[in-house]
Amino acid sequence: MTEINQIKSLLVMPKDIVILSHRNPDGDAIGSSLALAHFLRKLKHKVDIILPSECPTNFKYLEGFEEIMIFDLKHDECREKVNEAKIIFCLDFNALDRIDKLGENVQFSKADKIMIDHHLDPEPFADFVISDTGASSTSELVFKFMVDLGYENMIDPKIGSGLFTGLVTDTGSFKYATRPYTYEVAGKLKQLGVDDYGIQNHIFNALKEKHLRLLGHCLANRMEVYSDKHTAMIYLTKQDYKDFNIQRGDTEGIVNYMLMMENIHMAAFIMEQPSIVKISLRSKGSIDVQQIASKNFNGGGHKNASGGSAYAKLEDVLDKFRKMVEGLNLQIIS
Ligand code: 5GP
Ligand code: MN
Repeated sequence: MTEINQIKSLLVMPKDIVILSHRNPDGDAIGSSLALAHFLRKLKHKVDIILPSECPTNFKYLEGFEEIMIFDLKHDECREKVNEAKIIFCLDFNALDRIDKLGENVQFSKADKIMIDHHLDPEPFADFVISDTGASSTSELVFKFMVDLGYENMIDPKIGSGLFTGLVTDTGSFKYATRPYTYEVAGKLKQLGVDDYGIQNHIFNALKEKHLRLLGHCLANRMEVYSDKHTAMIYLTKQDYKDFNIQRGDTEGIVNYMLMMENIHMAAFIMEQPSIVKISLRSKGSIDVQQIASKNFNGGGHKNASGGSAYAKLEDVLDKFRKMVEGLNLQIIS
């Protein structure tokens, strides 16, 4: 039996299912999880979505957003759900350390584990692995998963809105990581009646005054440009977090501004958080930031978008980054 048919047979009888996605969930993590949950509920399953940390509120237009359980807020309840689940879907992550301590519960769970993901180098913890690093997003793969199961006709606008959210956020509004199939999926979702403009309006026109003030501060006072290395970096201190009342999600997208400079092919955003320093890396074209993230910052992700973290002082991380940039010899192919 093919893998997809094995999964299909697991889904024949109603079951308790948990959908998990990664810490600091983004539009793809949230959108693909909600879409899959709505879909599985149509197949009569009992479904819970559990995310390690809270969701940015601009995704609250998605139906079911309020039901998402947050491990940071409800440790015991979430653990119990994972332990009781008969099937666990792992969406948009491929290493158990991306879901914090819940990773242990997943590892020792007897449930059937199904990973659907598009990040590089999946860890072998799932029974079924649907991994395609050529996909724009996990949402694109979840769409294909539903089609491959033979249930395309069950995809409705509610499911489609989650999937479209993942497509649009992980591709930066169809600017990168696309392939012809990405547009096919988008076209099919539009055909179903998904409100593509409305969704983008919710996601991208939802800033508050403080976000633009923070962006201004980052660009004016916190940006270092290493022109000869085609690299730029912005950092934020704990004091900045206080001064600008920065909450989770408020810094989303700032890293991308640096890539708007013609000569800049790699951008880093370094944030001093309460107990760790978090690093976001982005690049254009052939520059591989996944390697840089995994080699230097205990992280990973994709070739053009990766992240990592360090348990160190901000100044030390900045120095490490600056030294690393000094040694860079980026081969710009344009
Ligand atoms: P972001 O910079 O938006 O947090 O993340 C960019 C990409 O890198 C995402 O695909 C995310 O999953 C991945 N990523 C971010 N932080 C980490 C990390 O600490 N470890 C790993 N393995 N991947 C990360
Ligand atoms: Mn994704």
